[in-house]
Amino acid sequence: MRTVLIIGAGASGMAAAITAAGCGENRVILIEKQSRPGKKLLATGNGCCNLTNTDISAENYFGEEKDFAIPALTRFGLESTVGFFRSLGLLTRRERGGKIYPYSMQASSVLDVLRFALDRPNVELYCDTAAVSIEKKGSGFNVATDKGSFFADRLIVAAGGAASPKLGGTWDGYKLLQGLGHSRTAIYPSLVQVKTENTYPRALKGIKTDARAALYSGKAAVCVSEGEILFTEYGLSGPAVFELSRFVSAERDLSISLDLMPEYEEGEVEALLLENRKSAGNLACENFLAGVLNKRLGQMLMKYSGIPFSAPAALLRDAEIKKLVRSIKNFSLPVKGTTGFENAQVTAGGIRTKEFRSDTLESRLCPNLFAAGEVLDVDGRCGGYNLQWAWSSGRLAGKLGAL
Ligand SMILES: Cc1cc2nc3c(=O)[nH]c(=O)nc-3n(C[C@H](O)[C@H](O)[C@H](O)COP(=O)(O)OP(=O)(O)OC[C@H]3O[C@@H](n4cnc5c(N)ncnc54)[C@H](O)[C@@H]3O)c2cc1C
Repeated sequence: MRTVLIIGAGASGMAAAITAAGCGENRVILIEKQSRPGKKLLATGNGCCNLTNTDISAENYFGEEKDFAIPALTRFGLESTVGFFRSLGLLTRRERGGKIYPYSMQASSVLDVLRFALDRPNVELYCDTAAVSIEKKGSGFNVATDKGSFFADRLIVAAGGAASPKLGGTWDGYKLLQGLGHSRTAIYPSLVQVKTENTYPRALKGIKTDARAALYSGKAAVCVSEGEILFTEYGLSGPAVFELSRFVSAERDLSISLDLMPEYEEGEVEALLLENRKSAGNLACENFLAGVLNKRLGQMLMKYSGIPFSAPAALLRDAEIKKLVRSIKNFSLPVKGTTGFENAQVTAGGIRTKEFRSDTLESRLCPNLFAAGEVLDVDGRCGGYNLQWAWSSGRLAGKLGAL
């Protein structure tokens, strides 16, 4: 029998362990630093676990090597993933935006079926056990943990990234792989709240609205996304803002421009407001946008546009209406940063993928060493893409080079 040791019982580590255990020749040892496997998984998708998406294509992924993830995502794509979970007893459902969830809408269902599948004679799971160093020994590895050492013929590092330390995010995976000669790109928090100049967001704290959000570096658009945004004490949150956050740490002189009526062209919004000035001109400006946008948001836009609340709407000048339209279509906030790894769902960047074979995930520098999941320089958009990468890369690594 050959011993396969997997570091990290998160999404990718468990997928790798189940796959490797499928070959009866393998004795699989899975070690997990935390007291239980898959702790982060329970928190995913607001406790519902958005485990994949119907649109798994390369444009949804980032990293130094744009195409690195493709072989794994092709070999273990959407159908294969849904089939894999179905074979473990999990039923899934499709929701808005092609997001796939467990039918129960409970992340614990996903974790449970993975845990049950690991309960087999050739798998040993050691929790509260942290890998601290790895030494090459012949064609295998000596892995030192805080509970003693293990020898492994094959090693899979699936220790995740730096995001969300409360749920097990660590730098361990990077350090362990760097100890074996690998290198890392710069890393940034991604899918995280964005801190902006907060005078207006603070006043709107708790309000959710659909918007088109564009991140600008000076005058150049860096990234645009559309969906829900949430105003917070420190700035902006919500899926549309998460999408932009990946680029916030890497760029300078940033601002976010919100289009608060993305379905309407600027001219259409202007025509609508001119019509309202006629029909609802008896209102005070304070309530002029009450029938159009969230009330507090409408009032804040008046303030942002420098229009006094008490003035009668009928007296709004054309130039003031134009200014209001510009505020609605281009509500711009200077960016100050993100709320950091502490709150991030994902790490952008990681161990350099060019040091691994994309078709097997075996190291090019160190034979019999594999890596999977977020520890590698692959990160995805919001919507099930990161877990899909974890399942695909975990299952590919668990094949241990079998093509
Ligand atoms: C709040 C939140 C919500 C999210 N929601 C979604 C979602 O709905 N859909 C989606 O696609 N993605 C989501 N993500 C992202 C997704 O959870 C991760 O991308 C995915 O879990 C990464 O899988 P992984 O196996 O690489 O790492 P992880 O799942 O983080 O697993 C790594 C494991 O390794 C263990 N470990 C670390 N160091 C050591 C060591 N030295 N020794 C032993 N064990 C170690 C850790 O404790 C951890 O259990 C979310 C993330 C967060 C934080």
